[in-house]
Amino acid sequence: MADFSDLTLDVVKVRRDFPILDREVHGKPLVYLDNAATSQTPRQVTAVFDDYYGRYNANIHRGLHTLADEATAAFEGTRETVRAFLNAGEDREIIFTRGTTEAINLVANSWGRANLGPGDEVLISRLEHHSNIVPWQLLAGELGFTIKVIPVDERGVLDMVAYRDLFTGRTRLVAVNHISNAFGTINPVREMARVAHEHGARILVDGAQAAPHQCIDVRDIDADFYAFSGHKVYGPTGVGVLYGKAELLEAMPPWQGGGEMIRTVSFETPTTFADIPHKFEAGTPAIAEVIALGRALQWVQGIGLELIGAWEARLLEHATEGVRGIEGLRVLGTAPDKAGVLSFVVDGAHSQDIGLLIDQLGVAIRTGHHCAQPLLAQFGLDATCRASFAAYNTPEEIDVFVEGLERVVGMLR
Ligand code: PLP
Repeated sequence: MADFSDLTLDVVKVRRDFPILDREVHGKPLVYLDNAATSQTPRQVTAVFDDYYGRYNANIHRGLHTLADEATAAFEGTRETVRAFLNAGEDREIIFTRGTTEAINLVANSWGRANLGPGDEVLISRLEHHSNIVPWQLLAGELGFTIKVIPVDERGVLDMVAYRDLFTGRTRLVAVNHISNAFGTINPVREMARVAHEHGARILVDGAQAAPHQCIDVRDIDADFYAFSGHKVYGPTGVGVLYGKAELLEAMPPWQGGGEMIRTVSFETPTTFADIPHKFEAGTPAIAEVIALGRALQWVQGIGLELIGAWEARLLEHATEGVRGIEGLRVLGTAPDKAGVLSFVVDGAHSQDIGLLIDQLGVAIRTGHHCAQPLLAQFGLDATCRASFAAYNTPEEIDVFVEGLERVVGMLR
């Protein structure tokens, strides 16, 4: 068994923040191992909603009254929290979106439309979530640029030699995730950014799976764009972040039009737009969700991402050891540099059946293609089972999962 004794994470205390972890499923204590899809939300974060709607619910920016001021201060204060979380240089480089998907669509539709055309090339890794593939495919269909795929090897590791070879004088953008949601591979995004910039290309990093697991430094990575979602980092759904370098954001045209994103609107003279970040935040945002996201990031930082990452690595080690003995089980994604995701298939047992049966034992894992069909296709698969870990998971829960899996596989094979 992996040794957890040197880690100072007080998991009993951490779990007290999550009332949902006390519930039962099918009469069994819940073991929640679907964190890569959505993490649970601590009470400090859910409390934001009562506080906001109970005390200072108001639309932001435009009001002159006290409630509007308070809401604006909390909303804009969160921009600073996010800036610090990403180590971005300036608050105005932080744009609030509905999530990673919307952040990527924003870059595609604004930066992409302004910078991509026939003959241009965009490099996308085979490890990507569909949300970092499909927006580019939709745009390529319209604008006529070419998508080239960065290959992965049998471990789920990006082929960096092939990556370098893919660049031509027409490469404009690299779109890659920081951590793969399907296999857990941690990609060398800093090195990838360096190579992209050497060739005069931009890099968009999808950080949806990285934000909950490791410290992020967008300046050290030298990412041009970096996206993540609130609901995977102990925050609420409906909110996410796009970081973009100020000079890029300033040069980009607006994407969605509406209130908040304008300076002046006229039928007689051209409408003018607000400065960044507001130029990209049309309409009333998810105010409470944004404030709650800030609270979630503070919660994470209260424990420390280094400690969380180390804890999850130990859980992964323990789980990987545990499932090793299960006959017919094959782990997908064996990168040396890997975050807390255990993806696997079992010969003779369908992933969906495993997911359904293990749920009967109270264990929540994900089964399916994980929105990564091109990756799974390379391995001749249309689905895997995936257990993914968070700060509140315990070695004992991993044991319940492994024992449950042994039982379920025994029934199915
Ligand atoms: N990118 C990665 C790597 C993901 O894991 C996910 C969600 O699973 C997304 C993007 C999309 O995130 P959202 O649905 O929050 O926009």
